Amino acid sequence: MELASATQSEIRLTIEVAFQLANALADGAPDVRRTLDDAGFSRAADASAASIYRMITRLNDLTPLLVELHRLETTAASKRINEQLTELPIAPSISEHDGLPAHIHWTPTTATFDDQVISDIVMALAQEVCERGTARFGQCDASGCDWLFYDTTRNRSRRFCSDPRCASRTHTADHRARRRANAR
Ligand SMILES: [Zn+2]
Ligand SMILES: [Zn+2]
Repeated sequence: MELASATQSEIRLTIEVAFQLANALADGAPDVRRTLDDAGFSRAADASAASIYRMITRLNDLTPLLVELHRLETTAASKRINEQLTELPIAPSISEHDGLPAHIHWTPTTATFDDQVISDIVMALAQEVCERGTARFGQCDASGCDWLFYDTTRNRSRRFCSDPRCASRTHTADHRARRRANAR
């Protein structure tokens, strides 16, 4: 399986949570703490309100890059990601805790929670671009929806976000357009 390694599933989960937060931010005020807690960020429950507040600001700043990724070639994406990396307190260490296999923590335990999460997200983007380029980054094709998604299909054929209405209303619209064309 292409996505079997622990590192790959971690990259995928981190990018998916970044996109989920960016999508929610575009729609209003997301519950950042709960989203990160659900995604397995163990410090989310106890993070300070100030750190969660800073995280929202920082995610808003990161969103333009997240939105553009699927349109960028590897070289352009790398340049943009490198700009983000220089701002972050990244100091990797190998960690084993809570029964998890050895894995890399990108920030020291003294990092603020927002520094940790933003570093995890930017490092996941960096690893993804190095291993697979930008082909798996996607944005919903349905009119009126601009949600981001991570495409895990074998042939990179995904067109829509996880909201089933986007696929169904687009298919209905395509079908109507074809029928009108045939009726001419
Ligand atoms: Zn860990
Ligand atoms: Zn959509």
